[in-house]
Formats: sequence, C-alpha cells, structure tokens
Amino acid sequence: MDIKEILSAEPIGKTIEVRGWVRTFRSNRFIALNDGSGVKNLQVVVDFETESPELLKRITTGACLQVTGEIAASQGRGQTVEMFSTDIKVLGDSDPDEFPLQPKKHSMEFLREIAHLRPRTQTFGAVFRIRHALQFAIHKYFNDNGFFMVHTPIITGSDAEGAGEMFRVSTLDPKSPPLTEDGSLDWGEDFFGKESNLTVSGQLEAELFAMGLGKVYTFGPTFRAENSNTTRHLAEFWMIEPEVAFNDLFDNMDLAEDCLKYVIRYLMENCKDDLQFLHDRLIEEEKSLPQDKRSIPLLEKLESVVSNEFVRCSYTEAIDILRNSKPNKKKKFQYVIEEWGADLQSEHERYLVEKHFGKPVILYDYPASIKAFYMRVNEDDKTVRAMDILFPGIGEIVGGSQREERYDVLKQKIEDFGIEEESLWWYLQTRKFGSCVHSGFGLGFERLVSFVSGMSNIRDVIPFPRTPKNAEF
Ligand code: ATP
Ligand code: MN
Repeated sequence: MDIKEILSAEPIGKTIEVRGWVRTFRSNRFIALNDGSGVKNLQVVVDFETESPELLKRITTGACLQVTGEIAASQGRGQTVEMFSTDIKVLGDSDPDEFPLQPKKHSMEFLREIAHLRPRTQTFGAVFRIRHALQFAIHKYFNDNGFFMVHTPIITGSDAEGAGEMFRVSTLDPKSPPLTEDGSLDWGEDFFGKESNLTVSGQLEAELFAMGLGKVYTFGPTFRAENSNTTRHLAEFWMIEPEVAFNDLFDNMDLAEDCLKYVIRYLMENCKDDLQFLHDRLIEEEKSLPQDKRSIPLLEKLESVVSNEFVRCSYTEAIDILRNSKPNKKKKFQYVIEEWGADLQSEHERYLVEKHFGKPVILYDYPASIKAFYMRVNEDDKTVRAMDILFPGIGEIVGGSQREERYDVLKQKIEDFGIEEESLWWYLQTRKFGSCVHSGFGLGFERLVSFVSGMSNIRDVIPFPRTPKNAEF
C-alpha cells in the first residue's frame, strides 16, 4: 500500500507491506519511511530486541526497505498511525558515510549539485508532486473547455521568432563541414537540407491549427540560447500556448486569468499537504529576515491570486506610474524610465506588481517597436495588441497578443523586421485564405511552478535544469 493511503485510511489492526526509503532512523527503534506518495513519512516501530543487530545496522538514511507490519494508533506526536514491523528486508543498502543527503538542512545550491538525489528530499518531493498536479490541471482546464492539444514540432526550420537565441540542430561534422563554392557553410548538405534549430515557441504552428480547429493549445519544451543567468530563466523550459480563433485581446486576457485561477485553485484543493509543507518551509527559511523583507506566506499569496481580479493597465498608464514613482525620481532603478517607448525591465514590472498595485497586473497595448512582428497593430499605428501578465515575486509569467490577421499589414511587418518572407510563406498564407481575428499567449510553466511552490530559483522546480555552462544529469 502507498504510505499516503495508509496515513489517510488509517487501517488500524491490518498487516500491510510497504516499500520506501529511510529518511531517518532514531534510537534503533523508529524509522521514518517515505515512498514518494506524499510529503508525510510513515513511522515504523522496530522491535530491536528481536531484530538481529546486523539488520539494524543496515537501516541507514537512504537505504531502501520492504517492511511488513501491523498498523496501530500512534502514541507519539506527529502522526496518527504507525506500523509495528514484523518483517524487514533491506532491498538496497546505503553506506551512511558516503550518502550525501544527511538528515539535516542542505543548501539549494548543494542540492543542485546532487540533483540525482533531490527527489529523495521532502522539499523536492513536494515541488515535483505539485509540478505534476499543475500540468494535469492545465490539461484538464483546456480539455474541459473544448480545446485540442497540438504537438507542435520541437525542431524547426524557421527562426522568425528567436534569431540569435536558438540552438542549432545539425549532423554536420564540425571539424570538416561541407562548404559551398564561395567558402561558406553548405547547410544544404545538413540533415534537413537547411539550417534548423530547436524551437523557441510553438505559437506560429499553433496559429495554423487554431484557424481550423478553433481552440487549441500546445504544452511542450522550448529552448532559448540566451545567456541569462537569472533565477527566472532556463535554457530549456516548458511552455503552455493556447491559441483561439475569434478571440480578441480582451478575450485573451480573460482566458489567461481564468486559466491561472483555475489551476491554482485546483492545487489548493488537491495538494493541501504539499502546499502546507512548502508554506511552512518558506516561513522557516525567512524567519531570520526583517519583517519587510519576508515574502507573503505562500497560502495567503495563492488565496489572494484566486480571489482578486487582476489589474488591467495599459503600457501608457504604466509608464506614467513609473515615471512618477519614487525609485524613478530618486534614480533608484537601474534603468530610469525617461520616455514613452522604453522597454520595461523586471525591476519596473516588479515595482508595478509588488509596490504599486499589490496584485497581479495585465499590461497591454505596448509600443510596436519593443514587441514581435506578429502582433495586431492598433489604430494609433504606434502600439500593438500585446499583453503581459505580471505576478508578484516572478515578474512576467504570461506573454501574449492578438495576432495580426490582415495580410497586407503582416506582409509589411515581416519586411520591416528584416525577416525573409520565404521562411514564413505558410504563416502568411493563413491570412490569405479565410483569415480571422485570433489571439493566444505563452505561459511559462516553470515560472508558474516557482510561483505556486514559493521556490525562489527556477532551477529548483525543473527536474534537471539546463542553464549556461550546465547540462549535467
Ligand atoms: P523575459 O522577458 O522574462 O525573458 P520573454 O518576454 O522573453 O521573457 P516570451 O517570449 O514572452 O518571454 O515567453 C512567454 C513566457 O515564457 C514568459 O512570459 C515566461 O513565463 C516564459 N519564459 C520566457 N523565457 C523563459 C526562460 N528563459 N526560462 C523560463 N521561462 C521563460
Ligand atoms: Mn514576453
């Protein structure tokens, strides 16, 4: 039986077999056993008078055991039931002198170096169970709302979106690549007969499907070769990208807000133990900080997101707020906001969310010059129908837009952006044959997991993070 099930069903008097890993072994008598099913351990009480000393010696932190025993109401604090063992088998020994995970607090940095053993800790167990539940909730949300999931390609021949930020996919021999007559590299000889890369987004392909299936989404890995060593960037991350025919920018905002609230509510209802554990962990972690440096307690933060309406604020209004803000006037921002048109940095986004509004903010109608070519140009000819959702502690969690559906305008934009039209002929064609208003967004999955788990570094919410100079495991 799963330990989680035993702890909730409390089958007192029943003899049950469990398997799991030893978290701690106290007083030669109490094993805290965990099988990954939940954050709580099963306390196994060993009869040290009848068990052989050889076997007791092999019960060490990290060892894998199979235990049979009878479930009884617990006299001790901290658990309602415990197991009195009648038979213990060591399935896998673990040398306590070598096992890197000691029953004490380790730093997140150290745990990253032993990412192969992170799933054996309470914190990472909780984070990855939540990660699972969250992806399930996302699929459920879209499925229940009539969306179809599309598996967009991971290898792409178009670099329209991420020129310069892409990972090349090639089978050419880097030592002696084939050359053309003028001495440049002959991509025609490569596997796909042209330059190809790992995708930075499934959006363009999702749009093609939206204009046939109506409501679609993608949920896949994306890759960015940007050299961003931050707590919010990964070189490989997962993104959810819905795309909906007939939705305008405001429908798009409604969808994103509804989706985020739904999945967070789902976690609050279905991952109570793990969230409570992470909530307590964060408070413990920050207890030495001064009051004003501490984050909002996790459960309160989640509650406030699901029960408050997100603020909607145009880029132009945001620039006014920022220009008149204290940190801007006192030149406390690294990038002082001088005029309309400036790109917003994460310091500005966080000021708006955390200091000014105090809740999630949807910024929209950005200057065309700082956004992608495919966004719908507004009547003012200066701004585009873009929207970003900013979350406290995270900054941008969603980036989306209403797409340019007018053939001539899109064709001109592609030219203005210096993109080769031939590489996007298929994208342009959808605007020629039955074009329509449509919108979509990209939700960064790991940023959302960071937010809901309270883990401050994005590297701690993906099993094996890929970042500059790091692809271990
Ligand atoms: P940022 O400005 O934060 O670098 P972006 O504007 O480049 O993000 P988009 O291209 O809009 O990001 O991607 C959509 C979403 O994907 C973002 O809102 C964010 O949640 C997520 N995202 C983008 N880049 C990364 C990354 N390197 N690692 C993890 N998540 C990311
Ligand atoms: Mn963005």
